[in-house]
Amino acid sequence: MILLVGDRPFDLRPTKIVAVARNYKAHAEEMNVDLPKEPSLFLKPPSSLLANGGEVLLPQSSARIDHEVELAVVMKSRAKRITTEYVKENVLGYTILVDITARDIQAEAKKSGMPWTVAKGYDTFAPIGPRIVPVDEIDEKNLDIWLKINGVYKQRGNTNQMIFTVEEIVSHISHIMTLEPLDVIATGTPSGVGPMHDGDTIEAGIENIGTLRFKAARIH
Ligand code: MG
Repeated sequence: MILLVGDRPFDLRPTKIVAVARNYKAHAEEMNVDLPKEPSLFLKPPSSLLANGGEVLLPQSSARIDHEVELAVVMKSRAKRITTEYVKENVLGYTILVDITARDIQAEAKKSGMPWTVAKGYDTFAPIGPRIVPVDEIDEKNLDIWLKINGVYKQRGNTNQMIFTVEEIVSHISHIMTLEPLDVIATGTPSGVGPMHDGDTIEAGIENIGTLRFKAARIH
C-alpha cells in the first residue's frame, strides 16, 4: 500500500488495523448507542486497505454501504503495555482512513450478537492516505475532519470532539495486543455517516494532512 511520507513513496504494510467504534459523541447519538466507558475496538484486515485514487467495491451482499472518515495513527515501533505519556514516541504519524461499513450486515450482526468482521472486512473497505504526516508536525487534538460525496459535504467535525484521545486509545490497545511497527489505528468517525452508491466520487479530508480520494463501484 503506497502512501507518501513527505514527497517519498512509502510502502505501508501493517500487521493489523485496529479501529475504535463510537469515539465521537454525535456519532454515538446518531447510532443510538450509549457513550462508551473505554474505547470499544474491532479489527479490519490489512487486505481491506485501498490506496488513494482507488475504487471501493460495493458487494452485492449488502444494500447499504456507509462511509466513516477517521483520523488514523500509524505506529513507528513495537508497543506493549505502554502508558499514555509514552504513546507519542512510538507513533510514526497520522493519515486518513475511511472505515467503510456494510451497515445492513452490521445491524444484523448486532441483533444476533455476532462480530462485525464481515460488515467491516471486505476488500477495499479501508481507503487510506494520501500521506503520513509525522507525529511532531501536527496537533491531532484540533483538526477539522470532513467527507464529501460528489462535492457535497456529508460529514464535518473536528478531532476535538473525540471522546478518547490518541494517547488513551493507543495505550488501551497496547494493554490488550502488542502493536507492531506500521500497525494502523482508526480513531472513530464524527457524525454524518451515510451510504455510497455506484459511481460516487468520495473525498475525505483532514486539516494539515490532505485529501484522500476514491470512487465507489458496485460489483456486478
Ligand atoms: Mg468507524
